[in-house]
Amino acid sequence: MAKNLDFKGFVIDLDGVVYRGEELISDSNRRIASLKKKSKVLFLTNNSTRTRADYVKKLARFGINTTEDEIITSAYAAALYIKQNYKKPNVFVVGEDGLKSELSWQGIPTGWRGANIVLVGLDREFNYQKLSHALRLIQNGADFIATNTDNTIVTERGILPGGGSIVSAVQAACGKEPIVIGKPSQIIGKIVLDRLKLKPEDVLLLGDRLETDIAMGNILGMKTALVLTGISKREDIEKTGIEPDFVLDKL
Ligand SMILES: [Mg+2]
Repeated sequence: MAKNLDFKGFVIDLDGVVYRGEELISDSNRRIASLKKKSKVLFLTNNSTRTRADYVKKLARFGINTTEDEIITSAYAAALYIKQNYKKPNVFVVGEDGLKSELSWQGIPTGWRGANIVLVGLDREFNYQKLSHALRLIQNGADFIATNTDNTIVTERGILPGGGSIVSAVQAACGKEPIVIGKPSQIIGKIVLDRLKLKPEDVLLLGDRLETDIAMGNILGMKTALVLTGISKREDIEKTGIEPDFVLDKL
């Protein structure tokens, strides 16, 4: 990174920027250590399947020291959003243990009987019965919330369906649009800015996806950097019309 990129805060996407699955990208761990000496750093991921504690452990394996307070996932953001916006939430979760744990840590009850919220994220045990419950509840007036709408995820085994594919199945069944929590939604972006306690223009967001990372940063008035170690390529900037302030070969 150029030496003149001096910001009070950095928001760093994980997959495709810091690591690819279980593989560290370049010397991102050392870059992060040097950023943390002078600035606030937050890690931001749309992945809803793991808890923040899981990420602390994962980053530690790469030699990156963090605390749970420095990690914002779409699962954690969804739990915060529900806690702040509902008096008596009861959530039917289409998602994995990480999502359920984040809800339970916020004291939010889960189950399908009498649920007033259907919360949908990546669920690798998704099935027809869960889809039917979600449809029934939403028809009966439950709110439909999505942790994120990424249609695919990149894994060591190649590209696999992401949370967005499951959200789309529920959306097709019920004919309603969800409230989206994860990037590019401003909901998660505002949680990030609240946590940093910085003005958006003092923050640089680094991400590998134009449609999620860069789009959100731009909407909120952050400075943005597309990092070319993940999904989006330089030529996608023209195709999508989503323009980052900077383009970097790596973190
Ligand atoms: Mg990414």
